[in-house]
Amino acid sequence: MAERDRLRDYRGKRDFDRTGEPRGRGAPAGDRPRFVVQIHDASTMHFDFRLQVDDVLKSWSVPKGPSADPKDKRLAVPTEDHPLEYEEFEGVIPRGEYGGGTVIVWDHGTYEPLSHDRAGRPVDFARSLERGHATFRLSGTKLHGAYALTRFRGGEEAWLLVKRAGGPARTRGAPDPRRARSAKSGRTLAQVASEAAGE
Ligand code: MN
Repeated sequence: MAERDRLRDYRGKRDFDRTGEPRGRGAPAGDRPRFVVQIHDASTMHFDFRLQVDDVLKSWSVPKGPSADPKDKRLAVPTEDHPLEYEEFEGVIPRGEYGGGTVIVWDHGTYEPLSHDRAGRPVDFARSLERGHATFRLSGTKLHGAYALTRFRGGEEAWLLVKRAGGPARTRGAPDPRRARSAKSGRTLAQVASEAAGE
């Protein structure tokens, strides 16, 4: 598997009985791809929306977070690919480091690619993202149903994340990030931050 080869050097240099660094896991074959939405209390509060595509998490910063209301069009700005293990990351990035601030896993789960061509044939999901329009059905603990990501500006890229109409009617937008709780630990941003400070 290509992913395993890519991590061979990384693993060869490390003794995982000694270091706490992640070993790195391959994309489990046949499993549904994963998604995660993190809340990141960095210099500006934002949500990070990540979809597993092969062996990485394709990532967008979504200032207002995903909305379950199809009328809401959420700005989504692409950021760098993250390793699959990042789905589990919840904690405090030290001040002064890249992205310094508190992170919680707001929601996570699996998704089903829905992208089709004009003739209704399924298209490769990674290719649909390269072309700037991808649709997918999320099965998370909070987010459910079909969403679309659509690039509307090249150069300094900008996308829109929009719930597709037709599912069960929901007009609930994204929650207040300061009150939201982790899907992983039930904690708020403030609880994660204070527990990290108490260590
Ligand atoms: Mn972020």
